[in-house]
Amino acid sequence: MRRIEADISRRQMLGGMAAVVGMFAGFGLAPTEVRAQASGLPVLLTNLRLFDGTTLTLRDGVEILIEGGRTVIPGLIDTHWHTTLASVSQIVAMTQDIGFLHLMAGKEAGATLQRGFTTVRDVGGPAFGLQAAVDRGVIAGPRIFPAGAIISQTSGHGDFRFQNSLPMMPADPADYASAAGMSALADGVPEVLRRTREQLMKGASQIKITAGGGVASQYDPLESLQFTEAEMRATVDAASDWGTYVCAHVYTSAGIQRCIKAGVKSIEHGQLADEDTVRMMADNGTWWSIQPFLADEDANKYTDPKAVAAQKMVAEGTMRAFEWAGKHRVNWAFGTDILYGGGESQGRQLTKLARFMSPLAALHRATGAAGELLALSGGRAPYDGRLGVIAEGALADLLVIDGDAEAGLDWLADTDNLRLIMKGGRMFKNSL
Ligand SMILES: [Zn+2]
Repeated sequence: MRRIEADISRRQMLGGMAAVVGMFAGFGLAPTEVRAQASGLPVLLTNLRLFDGTTLTLRDGVEILIEGGRTVIPGLIDTHWHTTLASVSQIVAMTQDIGFLHLMAGKEAGATLQRGFTTVRDVGGPAFGLQAAVDRGVIAGPRIFPAGAIISQTSGHGDFRFQNSLPMMPADPADYASAAGMSALADGVPEVLRRTREQLMKGASQIKITAGGGVASQYDPLESLQFTEAEMRATVDAASDWGTYVCAHVYTSAGIQRCIKAGVKSIEHGQLADEDTVRMMADNGTWWSIQPFLADEDANKYTDPKAVAAQKMVAEGTMRAFEWAGKHRVNWAFGTDILYGGGESQGRQLTKLARFMSPLAALHRATGAAGELLALSGGRAPYDGRLGVIAEGALADLLVIDGDAEAGLDWLADTDNLRLIMKGGRMFKNSL
């Protein structure tokens, strides 16, 4: 909010902006003024039930002045998102002009915001340009915490080359995925340091590595371990020298344990963790970004029997993950990892969490808890102020919804139920 205000007053001095409208004051706390750069009448929201992102009860009679008895919640956060790979098919992502991909990502960013996700943590892909365009107000989209290129070893989960491009010789040009900033190949400590520092220079708010295989991997087995502990520690050192942290794509206990030993702060996926490993995450304060990879009708469809078996294992592991994360009090947050189309199910993915916990506890994982995970970026966070909460001094990202958030989350699946979407004090939807 401070940054937006500074930005607005700078523009006013330049004479380029219309008058600032003071929008509303007070959440029943000390008066908080939120300013928006929209013109028109002030909007007062009142008579609401508020989910503040942290407290697992709704607060009644909150004043934000509005008509009707609606619920207000913080803007949603997806902690595992790929802005440039969410809306296009894999074949398009790998073969089409990069400009087309970025334009598609821009369109998807607007749709993401309209689903109520006011912030995403981008864990791999060339999102820096999109972030700049969104933050400058050129296009509508969520706040983006970009990791930049996924750092992967040769043959790792982020190595998108084909076998016929091997071996790579020193004078060879970069492969397409590397040149486009989707992934960065690194083998050995010096290369890992270089690739990590390159992403930091581009403005990464955290670093993403691949530390094991994936369900749909073409070449790297699901149970494979990727990056030695020394290589991992190198990226952790480079990131922590910049005041930020490393998150890792990894599923298995052995992979997760190596990550924790090397100082990785956020485990992405991790659905094959055994209970000892979950305990180790809790003991080390490691964050866990869990995706509802369940055996549902909207799960990815595979034909390869190996992938089908892996997917089944991960689906079973996902149910365990929610149980053990709760039982052992691991810090965890919601993420979707929607790739290659299907972005419209982002909200529906969050509704699935309510099968395993109360609806408000589920919502907390996509608001207050997710905001804490984002805060690990420290000084590298692109935005000043708390996210995922409605509190004095926090960034003014909030939703007014039609739906009973204590009874269930089904309202999330239909964007018509999101009646007002505000990001940074600015309204991006108002159907009230
Ligand atoms: Zn991912």
